[in-house]
Amino acid sequence: MENCLFCRIIRGEIPSRRVYEDKDSVAFLDINPANPGHTLVMPKKHAENIFDADDELLGRVIVAAKVISKKIKESLNADGINVIQNNGRHAGQIVNHIHFHIIPRFANDTVIISYPQIKMEDKDFEEIQK
Ligand code: AMP
Ligand code: ZN
Repeated sequence: MENCLFCRIIRGEIPSRRVYEDKDSVAFLDINPANPGHTLVMPKKHAENIFDADDELLGRVIVAAKVISKKIKESLNADGINVIQNNGRHAGQIVNHIHFHIIPRFANDTVIISYPQIKMEDKDFEEIQK
């Protein structure tokens, strides 16, 4: 896509700190990381979100995300990893080129990934389950 920020990074028109690349996927460091090592993994071919990404391509990208997660965990000695993927503005998606955030987590880090939990009655669970 002509003006997509991540397509432009993938084409090399905008600099990035690339940490992984294969035939279908690319990963670079997030410019505003939650923690050191926060990485974005994505398909090279433009897709906006989880709804319009090709199934097989998405499968290969999530496998790349797994490989990268393991590498990050080992090389940074992380205690855990969050994998986050946002779809749509109201879900926190800012860049409309599908990407997975790989965020290394450490025992005493300052990252907050949190949401208030709501109470639901049995009948509401039954309705929503349908
Ligand atoms: P999201 O809110 O899921 O769309 O995440 C977009 C992410 O892209 C944010 O965490 C930004 O910090 C990151 N980002 C924006 N511009 C760049 C860039 N030029 N290079 C690397 N990461 C970027
Ligand atoms: Zn794009």
